[in-house]
Amino acid sequence: MASAVITGSSRGLGRAIALRFARDGYDIAVNYHSNEQQAETVAARAREHGVEAVVVGADVSAYDAAERLVETAADAFGGVDHLVNNAGIDQHVYTESLSPEDFDRVSDVNVNSAFNCTKAALGYLRESADEPSVVNLSSILAFTGAPIECHYAASKGALVSLTKSHARDFAPEIRVNAIAPGHIETDMTADRTEAEKQEELAAIPRDRYGQPEDIAEAAAYLRDAGFVTGETLHVNGGERME
Ligand code: NAP
Repeated sequence: MASAVITGSSRGLGRAIALRFARDGYDIAVNYHSNEQQAETVAARAREHGVEAVVVGADVSAYDAAERLVETAADAFGGVDHLVNNAGIDQHVYTESLSPEDFDRVSDVNVNSAFNCTKAALGYLRESADEPSVVNLSSILAFTGAPIECHYAASKGALVSLTKSHARDFAPEIRVNAIAPGHIETDMTADRTEAEKQEELAAIPRDRYGQPEDIAEAAAYLRDAGFVTGETLHVNGGERME
């Protein structure tokens, strides 16, 4: 049975991706930073699909922790076939008030983590017999810019570049793609006022927020899409059209 590591899968999009991969028959490593109990619940639900699941607490912005996550999954499953770099944080602050330390922290969690986990998993992915893949979670804000979260948008833009670079680096064996979600209903977007919600919805032709399962569907597609690499898949209900 093939396996996948999904970073930041205790909640939100990572949780939906982990459960989708489990439903598709993949053993999964559920990674959390602070919410162990929620991660255990995700693993228990995954096992209901007849797959194996391990839970690993690791702050993937640190290379040692990312390596421990990957090694734990490889020990449990005999290898790692797919990696989803989903862990991320957001913060709403104008540049005038943004500290260099906060800029670094967002970069560390959103970009360095993807480098860390990909580097740690590379040897296993290269040995995989399951058309291995990496999927990175970018954002619509990488393409539109975002005045009150410049560090977040910049980190998500860097992930697009990392995706293209790694797709070239690791070809032909390993495909590397990104997803750029629009507004998806998770804890990350739960702080909106009613007025903000109405304004956001007015800009989404599909006239609804995205759901975590919409992103899980995209992640499953990119896992399986054998002739797609270096690409960013925009999943935003039409909010931004190429
Ligand atoms: P979320 O609900 O806030 O969940 C974030 C997840 O990341 C949690 O599982 C959290 O673990 C984990 N995490 C945070 N820091 C971590 C660290 N240092 N090491 C390991 N795990 C860490 O966020 P979400 O909305 O699901 O977003 C998931 C990804 O999609 C993020 O990269 C985000 O930037 C991106 N995205 C989201 C949206 C959206 O509208 N929701 C739009 C565009 C892009 P704990 O639970 O243990 O804290």
